[in-house]
Amino acid sequence: MEGMPADAIISTRALTKHYGSVPALTDLTLDVTRGEIFGFLGPNGAGKSTMIRTLLGFLHPTRGSASVLGLDVVTSSVEIRRLTGYLPGGIALYDALTGEEVLDYLVDMQGRKAYRRAELCDRLELSGPVLRRRVRDYSRGMRQKIGVVQALQHDPELAILDEPTEGLDPLMQQAFYAILDDLRREGRTVFFSSHVLPEVERLCDRVAIIRGGTLMAVHEVGELLARRRRRVTLRWNGAAPDPSTLPGLEDVQVDGNRLMGTLSGEVAGFIRSIASPNLEDLTIEPASLEEAFLEYYAGDPAADIPQRDGR
Ligand code: ADP
Repeated sequence: MEGMPADAIISTRALTKHYGSVPALTDLTLDVTRGEIFGFLGPNGAGKSTMIRTLLGFLHPTRGSASVLGLDVVTSSVEIRRLTGYLPGGIALYDALTGEEVLDYLVDMQGRKAYRRAELCDRLELSGPVLRRRVRDYSRGMRQKIGVVQALQHDPELAILDEPTEGLDPLMQQAFYAILDDLRREGRTVFFSSHVLPEVERLCDRVAIIRGGTLMAVHEVGELLARRRRRVTLRWNGAAPDPSTLPGLEDVQVDGNRLMGTLSGEVAGFIRSIASPNLEDLTIEPASLEEAFLEYYAGDPAADIPQRDGR
């Protein structure tokens, strides 16, 4: 594929998908490299599931191309699905089977062994008695846990997960995050969609933002976070100093002996400038990834950034 990096594990070139006259993805070009935890972030209806379903070969591109593990998504979808761990959005399970039977059935289909099942079930608190119950009696969270386990139980080199934490309670979300941390350490690649920024901030090496089917930006999370602003509050024993003596501080408000402002750029120079025996209190609060994104989009008032609640 043209311009594809040697270590690309997912590559799309001008990938476009229309449902009839509805454009769900437009000219999306993206490379995900081996060993990355890659977040695919966008509000509902942005085209995330369409992208993921196209990568797995469940949908065919209207235009453009995509490859997964070096295999073309149109001609090699069976092989891609065998090699990839996949969690569909809103997973439907076989209701008449028990959780364990579902996991057995799906791992057999992949022609592999369930190397990690016991560990994953343990971490997601899927006990033996729960696994022996029929899926029709499962709660939404239990179904989602089975979905996560089936996607990862055969220890795939690449996992593609559509909104993996949907329906998991906060404790189980944390358990899932820890599982992802381990996968990163082991050099596995994970591509997952989310509409929740803090989760992407916590987990990902890089993040792509999609809106209305168009790729808006791709960033390294670390770089975004390093560039982000920090909110600073200072309190002195005595009057606050002249703000113009404090480098990098903007939007300054002075209230007697208190001073608040936004720090952008280097922290060290600022800290040197405030060092004084009269300084009584200092808090520096980093802006969230959400704010870093909002800043990125500051020039585009129409930008519909995924919000904390995701809707
Ligand atoms: P996301 O996963 O980000 O929520 P989707 O990929 O599900 O977004 O949807 C992208 C767009 O395509 C939305 O406008 C959605 O309404 C539309 N869409 C999704 N599936 C279909 C379908 N089967 N037929 C027609 N339109 C669809």
